[in-house]
Amino acid sequence: MRVAMIGTGYVGLVSGTCFSEFGHSVVCVDNDRSKIERLLGGEIPIYEPGLDDLVARNVRSGHLGFTTDLAQAVRDAEVVFIAVGTPSRRGDGHADLSYVFEAVRQVAMAADGYRLVVTKSTVPVGTGAKVKALLAETRPDLPFDVASNPEFLREGSAIEDFMRPDRVVVGTETARARELMTELYRPLFLAETPIVHTTIESAELIKYAANAFLATKITFINEVADLCEKVGANVQDIARGIGLDGRIGRKFLHAGPGFGGSCFPKDTRALVSSAQEYNAPLSLVEQVVASNEARKRRMADRVIAAAGGSLAGKTVGVLGLTFKPNTDDMREAPSLDIVPALIRAGATVRAYDPEGMAEARRLLDRVVWAEDAYDAVTGADVAVLVTEWNQFRALDLDRVKAAMKAPVMVDLRNVYKPEEMAARGFAYSSIGRPAAG
Ligand code: NAD
Repeated sequence: MRVAMIGTGYVGLVSGTCFSEFGHSVVCVDNDRSKIERLLGGEIPIYEPGLDDLVARNVRSGHLGFTTDLAQAVRDAEVVFIAVGTPSRRGDGHADLSYVFEAVRQVAMAADGYRLVVTKSTVPVGTGAKVKALLAETRPDLPFDVASNPEFLREGSAIEDFMRPDRVVVGTETARARELMTELYRPLFLAETPIVHTTIESAELIKYAANAFLATKITFINEVADLCEKVGANVQDIARGIGLDGRIGRKFLHAGPGFGGSCFPKDTRALVSSAQEYNAPLSLVEQVVASNEARKRRMADRVIAAAGGSLAGKTVGVLGLTFKPNTDDMREAPSLDIVPALIRAGATVRAYDPEGMAEARRLLDRVVWAEDAYDAVTGADVAVLVTEWNQFRALDLDRVKAAMKAPVMVDLRNVYKPEEMAARGFAYSSIGRPAAG
Protein backbone atom coordinates (compact mmCIF):
# COMPACT_ATOMS: atom_id res chain seq x y z
CA MET A 1 0.00 0.00 0.00
CA ARG A 2 1.07 3.60 -0.51
CA VAL A 3 1.22 5.65 2.67
CA ALA A 4 1.89 9.34 3.40
CA MET A 5 2.93 10.09 6.98
CA ILE A 6 2.41 13.77 7.80
CA GLY A 7 4.72 14.73 10.68
CA THR A 8 8.12 13.05 10.95
CA GLY A 9 8.73 13.29 14.69
CA TYR A 10 9.16 10.48 17.22
CA VAL A 11 5.88 8.86 16.19
CA GLY A 12 5.73 9.67 12.48
CA LEU A 13 9.32 8.65 11.75
CA VAL A 14 9.11 5.41 13.72
CA SER A 15 5.69 4.33 12.47
CA GLY A 16 6.42 5.41 8.89
CA THR A 17 9.67 3.44 8.94
CA CYS A 18 7.98 0.39 10.47
CA PHE A 19 5.18 0.49 7.87
CA SER A 20 7.88 0.50 5.18
CA GLU A 21 9.46 -2.49 6.90
CA PHE A 22 6.06 -4.22 6.58
CA GLY A 23 6.51 -3.80 2.81
CA HIS A 24 4.36 -0.72 2.26
CA SER A 25 5.62 2.22 0.27
CA VAL A 26 5.91 5.16 2.69
CA VAL A 27 6.74 8.82 2.29
CA CYS A 28 7.34 10.74 5.53
CA VAL A 29 6.52 14.44 5.26
CA ASP A 30 7.56 17.29 7.52
CA ASN A 31 7.40 21.05 7.17
CA ASP A 32 10.64 21.35 9.14
CA ARG A 33 13.02 21.57 6.20
CA SER A 34 16.16 20.93 8.24
CA LYS A 35 14.68 17.70 9.61
CA ILE A 36 13.93 16.41 6.10
CA GLU A 37 17.34 17.51 4.81
CA ARG A 38 19.05 15.58 7.60
CA LEU A 39 16.97 12.49 6.85
CA LEU A 40 17.72 12.76 3.12
CA GLY A 41 21.40 12.99 4.09
CA GLY A 42 21.12 9.71 5.99
CA GLU A 43 21.05 11.32 9.44
CA ILE A 44 18.40 10.51 12.07
CA PRO A 45 17.21 13.70 13.80
CA ILE A 46 16.16 11.95 17.04
CA TYR A 47 17.86 9.43 19.30
CA GLU A 48 15.96 6.15 19.12
CA PRO A 49 17.86 2.86 19.42
CA GLY A 50 17.87 0.80 16.20
CA LEU A 51 16.13 3.42 14.08
CA ASP A 52 19.18 4.35 11.99
CA ASP A 53 19.62 0.82 10.60
CA LEU A 54 15.92 0.37 9.91
CA VAL A 55 15.65 3.70 8.10
CA ALA A 56 18.79 3.03 6.05
CA ARG A 57 17.58 -0.43 5.01
CA ASN A 58 14.16 0.77 3.87
CA VAL A 59 15.51 3.83 2.08
CA ARG A 60 17.90 1.50 0.20
CA SER A 61 15.09 -0.86 -0.75
CA GLY A 62 13.04 2.07 -2.04
CA HIS A 63 10.19 1.57 0.42
CA LEU A 64 10.84 4.73 2.43
CA GLY A 65 11.30 8.34 1.37
CA PHE A 66 11.26 11.82 2.92
CA THR A 67 9.93 15.09 1.60
CA THR A 68 8.67 18.55 2.52
CA ASP A 69 6.22 18.34 -0.41
CA LEU A 70 3.02 17.36 1.37
CA ALA A 71 0.83 17.78 -1.74
CA GLN A 72 2.90 15.37 -3.82
CA ALA A 73 3.05 12.80 -1.01
CA VAL A 74 -0.74 12.96 -0.60
CA ARG A 75 -1.33 12.62 -4.33
CA ASP A 76 0.82 9.49 -4.35
CA ALA A 77 -0.85 7.81 -1.34
CA GLU A 78 -4.00 5.83 -0.60
CA VAL A 79 -3.73 6.23 3.15
CA VAL A 80 -2.65 9.50 4.79
CA PHE A 81 -1.59 9.49 8.43
CA ILE A 82 -1.59 12.61 10.56
CA ALA A 83 1.23 12.30 13.13
CA VAL A 84 1.87 15.94 14.01
CA GLY A 85 2.24 17.24 17.57
CA THR A 86 -0.72 17.92 19.87
CA PRO A 87 0.92 19.88 22.70
CA SER A 88 -0.97 21.40 25.63
CA ARG A 89 -2.69 24.66 24.79
CA ARG A 90 -1.41 27.47 27.00
CA GLY A 91 -3.71 28.25 29.89
CA ASP A 92 -6.37 25.55 29.79
CA GLY A 93 -4.53 22.24 29.36
CA HIS A 94 -6.64 21.32 26.33
CA ALA A 95 -4.78 19.68 23.43
CA ASP A 96 -3.71 22.23 20.83
CA LEU A 97 -5.20 20.85 17.61
CA SER A 98 -4.01 23.62 15.32
CA TYR A 99 -1.23 21.46 13.78
CA VAL A 100 -3.68 18.62 13.16
CA PHE A 101 -6.27 20.84 11.49
CA GLU A 102 -3.65 22.65 9.44
CA ALA A 103 -2.29 19.33 8.19
CA VAL A 104 -5.81 18.08 7.41
CA ARG A 105 -6.55 21.27 5.45
CA GLN A 106 -3.41 20.75 3.37
CA VAL A 107 -4.29 17.10 2.79
CA ALA A 108 -7.79 18.10 1.63
CA MET A 109 -6.40 20.66 -0.80
CA ALA A 110 -3.92 18.19 -2.28
CA ALA A 111 -6.02 15.03 -2.63
CA ASP A 112 -7.13 14.12 -6.14
CA GLY A 113 -9.41 11.20 -5.28
CA TYR A 114 -10.50 8.94 -2.42
CA ARG A 115 -8.22 9.03 0.62
CA LEU A 116 -8.35 7.40 4.03
CA VAL A 117 -7.19 10.05 6.52
CA VAL A 118 -6.00 8.49 9.78
CA THR A 119 -5.15 10.40 12.96
CA LYS A 120 -2.18 8.79 14.68
CA SER A 121 -1.59 11.87 16.82
CA THR A 122 -3.18 11.67 20.26
CA VAL A 123 -6.35 13.73 19.88
CA PRO A 124 -9.28 14.38 22.23
CA VAL A 125 -12.50 12.47 21.74
CA GLY A 126 -14.58 14.19 19.09
CA THR A 127 -11.59 15.25 16.96
CA GLY A 128 -12.28 12.61 14.28
CA ALA A 129 -15.70 14.13 13.71
CA LYS A 130 -14.11 17.59 13.41
CA VAL A 131 -11.52 16.27 10.95
CA LYS A 132 -14.34 14.78 8.89
CA ALA A 133 -16.25 18.07 8.91
CA LEU A 134 -13.12 20.01 7.93
CA LEU A 135 -12.39 17.67 5.01
CA ALA A 136 -15.99 17.91 3.78
CA GLU A 137 -16.01 21.68 4.12
CA THR A 138 -12.63 22.22 2.42
CA ARG A 139 -13.30 19.76 -0.42
CA PRO A 140 -17.02 19.01 -0.82
CA ASP A 141 -16.19 17.03 -3.98
CA LEU A 142 -13.71 14.66 -2.30
CA PRO A 143 -14.61 11.07 -1.38
CA PHE A 144 -12.83 10.15 1.84
CA ASP A 145 -12.97 8.23 5.10
CA VAL A 146 -11.47 9.12 8.43
CA ALA A 147 -10.05 6.72 11.00
CA SER A 148 -8.38 6.87 14.39
CA ASN A 149 -5.29 4.77 15.03
CA PRO A 150 -3.69 5.98 18.26
CA GLU A 151 -0.06 5.07 18.85
CA PHE A 152 1.18 3.35 22.02
CA LEU A 153 4.91 3.14 21.31
CA ARG A 154 7.33 4.29 23.98
CA GLU A 155 10.40 6.35 23.20
CA GLY A 156 13.52 4.28 23.80
CA SER A 157 11.85 1.04 22.70
CA ALA A 158 9.72 2.49 19.92
CA ILE A 159 10.58 0.00 17.17
CA GLU A 160 9.98 -3.08 19.30
CA ASP A 161 6.74 -1.50 20.57
CA PHE A 162 5.52 -0.81 17.03
CA MET A 163 6.55 -4.19 15.63
CA ARG A 164 5.33 -6.25 18.61
CA PRO A 165 2.54 -4.24 20.23
CA ASP A 166 0.21 -5.59 22.90
CA ARG A 167 -2.61 -4.46 20.63
CA VAL A 168 -3.45 -2.19 17.74
CA VAL A 169 -6.48 0.07 18.14
CA VAL A 170 -8.38 1.06 15.02
CA GLY A 171 -11.46 3.28 15.03
CA THR A 172 -13.38 3.41 11.76
CA GLU A 173 -16.89 4.06 10.53
CA THR A 174 -16.99 2.38 7.11
CA ALA A 175 -16.17 -1.10 5.85
CA ARG A 176 -13.74 0.36 3.30
CA ALA A 177 -11.73 2.16 5.98
CA ARG A 178 -11.68 -0.94 8.16
CA GLU A 179 -10.45 -3.08 5.27
CA LEU A 180 -7.67 -0.63 4.40
CA MET A 181 -6.51 -0.49 8.02
CA THR A 182 -6.60 -4.28 8.29
CA GLU A 183 -4.50 -4.56 5.12
CA LEU A 184 -2.01 -2.02 6.47
CA TYR A 185 -1.52 -3.97 9.69
CA ARG A 186 -1.67 -7.42 8.06
CA PRO A 187 1.83 -8.49 9.22
CA LEU A 188 0.82 -7.85 12.84
CA PHE A 189 -2.54 -9.51 12.35
CA LEU A 190 -0.76 -12.59 10.97
CA ALA A 191 1.48 -12.54 14.07
CA GLU A 192 -1.72 -12.77 16.14
CA THR A 193 -1.55 -9.26 17.54
CA PRO A 194 -5.01 -8.35 18.84
CA ILE A 195 -6.53 -5.67 16.61
CA VAL A 196 -9.19 -3.79 18.55
CA HIS A 197 -11.74 -2.42 16.07
CA THR A 198 -13.96 0.29 17.54
CA THR A 199 -15.73 3.49 16.66
CA ILE A 200 -13.58 6.56 16.15
CA GLU A 201 -14.70 8.06 19.48
CA SER A 202 -13.79 4.91 21.41
CA ALA A 203 -10.38 4.67 19.75
CA GLU A 204 -9.64 8.29 20.63
CA LEU A 205 -10.66 7.74 24.23
CA ILE A 206 -8.77 4.43 24.59
CA LYS A 207 -5.49 6.28 24.13
CA TYR A 208 -6.24 8.84 26.84
CA ALA A 209 -7.70 6.26 29.22
CA ALA A 210 -4.56 4.10 28.82
CA ASN A 211 -2.17 6.98 29.50
CA ALA A 212 -4.25 8.30 32.41
CA PHE A 213 -4.37 4.83 33.96
CA LEU A 214 -0.58 4.42 33.71
CA ALA A 215 -0.01 7.93 35.08
CA THR A 216 -2.34 7.08 37.97
CA LYS A 217 -0.36 3.94 38.74
CA ILE A 218 2.88 5.93 38.89
CA THR A 219 1.31 8.62 41.06
CA PHE A 220 -0.17 6.01 43.35
CA ILE A 221 3.18 4.38 44.05
CA ASN A 222 4.84 7.80 44.42
CA GLU A 223 2.37 8.77 47.16
CA VAL A 224 2.83 5.35 48.80
CA ALA A 225 6.60 6.05 48.71
CA ASP A 226 6.01 9.27 50.67
CA LEU A 227 4.13 7.29 53.30
CA CYS A 228 6.90 4.65 53.35
CA GLU A 229 9.41 7.35 54.20
CA LYS A 230 7.32 8.42 57.19
CA VAL A 231 6.82 4.91 58.58
CA GLY A 232 10.11 3.21 57.69
CA ALA A 233 8.65 0.88 55.03
CA ASN A 234 10.29 0.10 51.69
CA VAL A 235 8.35 1.08 48.56
CA GLN A 236 10.16 -1.50 46.43
CA ASP A 237 8.89 -4.25 48.73
CA ILE A 238 5.40 -2.76 48.54
CA ALA A 239 5.57 -2.60 44.73
CA ARG A 240 6.65 -6.24 44.53
CA GLY A 241 4.15 -7.32 47.16
CA ILE A 242 1.23 -5.76 45.32
CA GLY A 243 2.56 -6.16 41.77
CA LEU A 244 2.73 -9.94 41.96
CA ASP A 245 -1.04 -9.85 42.25
CA GLY A 246 -2.06 -10.46 38.65
CA ARG A 247 -4.93 -8.02 38.99
CA ILE A 248 -2.44 -5.23 39.71
CA GLY A 249 0.65 -6.17 37.68
CA ARG A 250 4.26 -5.20 38.33
CA LYS A 251 4.79 -2.57 35.67
CA PHE A 252 4.62 1.18 36.31
CA LEU A 253 5.13 0.75 40.04
CA HIS A 254 8.56 2.40 40.23
CA ALA A 255 8.59 5.32 42.62
CA GLY A 256 10.51 8.34 41.37
CA PRO A 257 10.54 12.10 40.90
CA GLY A 258 7.15 12.23 39.13
CA PHE A 259 6.22 11.42 35.56
CA GLY A 260 7.32 13.65 32.70
CA GLY A 261 7.77 13.30 28.97
CA SER A 262 5.92 14.31 25.87
CA CYS A 263 2.76 12.30 26.62
CA PHE A 264 1.62 11.65 30.20
CA PRO A 265 1.59 15.26 31.46
CA LYS A 266 -0.15 16.72 28.42
CA ASP A 267 -2.49 13.78 27.89
CA THR A 268 -3.70 13.70 31.50
CA ARG A 269 -4.31 17.46 31.33
CA ALA A 270 -6.17 17.11 28.02
CA LEU A 271 -8.34 14.27 29.35
CA VAL A 272 -9.22 16.32 32.43
CA SER A 273 -10.12 19.20 30.16
CA SER A 274 -12.28 17.04 27.80
CA ALA A 275 -14.08 15.45 30.75
CA GLN A 276 -14.88 18.87 32.22
CA GLU A 277 -16.09 20.08 28.83
CA TYR A 278 -18.55 17.17 28.64
CA ASN A 279 -19.55 17.67 32.27
CA ALA A 280 -18.26 14.24 33.33
CA PRO A 281 -15.27 15.28 35.44
CA LEU A 282 -12.53 12.73 36.06
CA SER A 283 -11.70 13.83 39.59
CA LEU A 284 -9.19 11.03 40.07
CA VAL A 285 -7.16 12.12 37.05
CA GLU A 286 -7.42 15.77 38.16
CA GLN A 287 -5.77 14.73 41.41
CA VAL A 288 -3.07 12.77 39.57
CA VAL A 289 -2.15 15.88 37.58
CA ALA A 290 -1.99 18.06 40.71
CA SER A 291 -0.09 15.47 42.77
CA ASN A 292 2.51 14.93 40.05
CA GLU A 293 3.14 18.62 39.45
CA ALA A 294 3.60 19.24 43.18
CA ARG A 295 5.90 16.24 43.41
CA LYS A 296 8.25 17.44 40.67
CA ARG A 297 8.47 20.82 42.42
CA ARG A 298 9.27 19.18 45.76
CA MET A 299 12.20 17.10 44.50
CA ALA A 300 14.76 19.89 44.88
CA ASP A 301 13.90 20.06 48.61
CA ARG A 302 15.39 16.59 49.03
CA VAL A 303 18.67 17.81 47.60
CA ILE A 304 18.62 20.88 49.85
CA ALA A 305 17.98 18.63 52.86
CA ALA A 306 20.79 16.26 51.84
CA ALA A 307 23.14 19.24 51.66
CA GLY A 308 22.34 20.08 55.28
CA GLY A 309 19.54 22.58 54.68
CA SER A 310 21.18 25.06 52.31
CA LEU A 311 22.67 25.02 48.84
CA ALA A 312 24.08 28.52 49.01
CA GLY A 313 27.56 28.44 47.50
CA LYS A 314 27.43 24.68 47.02
CA THR A 315 27.79 22.55 43.89
CA VAL A 316 25.32 19.90 42.78
CA GLY A 317 26.23 17.25 40.20
CA VAL A 318 23.14 16.24 38.20
CA LEU A 319 23.20 12.86 36.47
CA GLY A 320 20.57 12.61 33.75
CA LEU A 321 18.26 15.23 32.31
CA THR A 322 15.91 13.47 29.88
CA PHE A 323 12.53 12.33 31.19
CA LYS A 324 13.65 8.71 30.93
CA PRO A 325 16.66 6.78 29.60
CA ASN A 326 17.28 5.92 25.92
CA THR A 327 15.76 9.07 24.53
CA ASP A 328 16.91 12.62 23.88
CA ASP A 329 13.40 13.91 24.66
CA MET A 330 13.40 16.66 27.30
CA ARG A 331 9.69 17.54 27.10
CA GLU A 332 8.32 18.10 30.63
CA ALA A 333 11.26 16.20 32.14
CA PRO A 334 11.43 16.42 35.96
CA SER A 335 14.92 17.91 35.52
CA LEU A 336 13.27 21.05 34.13
CA ASP A 337 11.74 21.65 37.57
CA ILE A 338 14.62 20.31 39.62
CA VAL A 339 17.62 22.08 38.04
CA PRO A 340 16.18 25.64 38.12
CA ALA A 341 15.04 25.10 41.74
CA LEU A 342 18.58 24.04 42.70
CA ILE A 343 20.01 27.13 41.03
CA ARG A 344 17.43 29.36 42.75
CA ALA A 345 18.52 27.81 46.05
CA GLY A 346 22.04 29.08 45.39
CA ALA A 347 23.72 26.01 43.91
CA THR A 348 26.09 25.77 41.01
CA VAL A 349 24.72 22.91 38.90
CA ARG A 350 27.04 20.70 36.88
CA ALA A 351 24.96 18.41 34.67
CA TYR A 352 25.47 15.56 32.27
CA ASP A 353 23.11 13.49 30.12
CA PRO A 354 24.19 10.93 27.49
CA GLU A 355 21.73 12.10 24.78
CA GLY A 356 19.73 15.04 26.10
CA MET A 357 22.39 17.75 26.38
CA ALA A 358 21.74 19.50 23.07
CA GLU A 359 18.08 20.00 23.89
CA ALA A 360 18.80 20.70 27.58
CA ARG A 361 21.13 23.56 26.63
CA ARG A 362 18.18 25.26 24.92
CA LEU A 363 15.89 24.79 27.92
CA LEU A 364 18.13 25.34 30.95
CA ASP A 365 20.18 28.42 31.81
CA ARG A 366 23.21 28.88 34.02
CA VAL A 367 24.17 25.20 34.04
CA VAL A 368 27.78 24.03 33.80
CA TRP A 369 27.66 21.32 31.13
CA ALA A 370 29.82 18.34 32.01
CA GLU A 371 31.70 15.93 29.75
CA ASP A 372 30.55 12.79 31.54
CA ALA A 373 29.17 11.57 34.87
CA TYR A 374 32.49 11.90 36.69
CA ASP A 375 33.00 15.41 35.38
CA ALA A 376 29.48 16.31 36.59
CA VAL A 377 30.19 15.25 40.17
CA THR A 378 33.68 16.79 40.32
CA GLY A 379 33.85 19.11 43.32
CA ALA A 380 30.16 18.51 44.09
CA ASP A 381 28.69 18.70 47.58
CA VAL A 382 25.77 16.51 46.43
CA ALA A 383 25.18 14.22 43.44
CA VAL A 384 21.59 13.78 42.22
CA LEU A 385 20.64 10.86 40.01
CA VAL A 386 17.66 12.13 37.99
CA THR A 387 17.47 9.72 35.01
CA GLU A 388 18.36 6.04 35.26
CA TRP A 389 20.57 5.70 32.17
CA ASN A 390 22.45 2.38 32.18
CA GLN A 391 25.78 4.17 32.46
CA PHE A 392 24.63 5.70 35.78
CA ARG A 393 23.65 2.25 37.08
CA ALA A 394 27.23 1.06 36.87
CA LEU A 395 29.22 4.03 38.11
CA ASP A 396 32.64 3.48 39.62
CA LEU A 397 31.50 4.68 43.03
CA ASP A 398 35.01 5.00 44.43
CA ARG A 399 35.84 7.31 41.57
CA VAL A 400 32.62 9.27 42.18
CA LYS A 401 33.47 9.60 45.86
CA ALA A 402 37.02 10.68 45.14
CA ALA A 403 35.81 13.33 42.68
CA MET A 404 33.19 14.81 45.00
CA LYS A 405 33.80 17.35 47.71
CA ALA A 406 31.52 15.32 50.01
CA PRO A 407 30.10 11.83 49.34
CA VAL A 408 26.40 12.68 49.36
CA MET A 409 24.01 11.17 46.83
CA VAL A 410 20.29 11.71 46.27
CA ASP A 411 19.04 8.88 44.06
CA LEU A 412 15.63 9.82 42.64
CA ARG A 413 15.38 6.51 40.72
CA ASN A 414 16.33 3.98 43.41
CA VAL A 415 19.18 2.68 41.28
CA TYR A 416 21.55 1.86 44.13
CA LYS A 417 21.12 -0.19 47.32
CA PRO A 418 21.10 1.83 50.57
CA GLU A 419 23.26 -0.75 52.41
CA GLU A 420 25.92 -0.80 49.66
CA MET A 421 26.03 2.97 49.48
CA ALA A 422 26.40 3.22 53.24
CA ALA A 423 29.17 0.60 53.17
CA ARG A 424 31.01 2.67 50.56
CA GLY A 425 30.80 5.71 52.78
CA PHE A 426 28.06 7.66 51.05
CA ALA A 427 25.35 9.65 52.80
CA TYR A 428 22.66 8.25 50.53
CA SER A 429 18.96 8.96 50.24
CA SER A 430 16.46 7.58 47.77
CA ILE A 431 12.70 7.43 47.20
CA GLY A 432 10.49 5.58 49.67
CA ARG A 433 13.25 3.44 51.15
CA PRO A 434 14.68 3.65 54.64
CA ALA A 435 18.29 4.79 54.89
CA ALA A 436 20.70 1.96 55.76
CA GLY A 437 21.92 1.38 59.27
P1 NAD B 1 7.05 15.59 17.40
O1 NAD B 1 6.94 16.99 17.85
O2 NAD B 1 8.30 14.82 17.63
O3 NAD B 1 6.75 15.52 15.82
C1 NAD B 1 5.74 16.20 15.17
C2 NAD B 1 6.26 16.63 13.79
O4 NAD B 1 5.18 17.13 13.00
C3 NAD B 1 7.32 17.73 13.84
O5 NAD B 1 8.50 17.27 13.20
C4 NAD B 1 6.67 18.89 13.09
O6 NAD B 1 7.60 19.66 12.37
C5 NAD B 1 5.70 18.16 12.17
N1 NAD B 1 4.59 18.95 11.65
C6 NAD B 1 3.74 19.78 12.32
N2 NAD B 1 2.84 20.31 11.47
C7 NAD B 1 3.10 19.81 10.24
C8 NAD B 1 2.50 19.96 8.96
N3 NAD B 1 1.44 20.75 8.75
N4 NAD B 1 3.05 19.30 7.92
C9 NAD B 1 4.13 18.51 8.10
N5 NAD B 1 4.71 18.29 9.29
C10 NAD B 1 4.21 18.95 10.35
O7 NAD B 1 5.81 14.84 18.06
P2 NAD B 1 5.68 13.28 18.47
O8 NAD B 1 6.33 13.04 19.77
O9 NAD B 1 6.04 12.44 17.28
O10 NAD B 1 4.11 13.18 18.70
C11 NAD B 1 3.17 13.22 17.64
C12 NAD B 1 1.82 12.79 18.17
O11 NAD B 1 1.90 11.42 18.61
C13 NAD B 1 1.33 13.58 19.39
O12 NAD B 1 -0.06 13.71 19.30
C14 NAD B 1 1.71 12.70 20.56
O13 NAD B 1 0.87 12.90 21.68
C15 NAD B 1 1.50 11.32 19.98
N6 NAD B 1 2.28 10.26 20.62
C16 NAD B 1 3.59 10.48 20.95
C17 NAD B 1 4.34 9.44 21.53
C18 NAD B 1 5.78 9.67 21.91
O14 NAD B 1 6.31 8.83 22.64
N7 NAD B 1 6.43 10.74 21.47
C19 NAD B 1 3.74 8.20 21.76
C20 NAD B 1 2.41 8.00 21.38
C21 NAD B 1 1.69 9.04 20.81
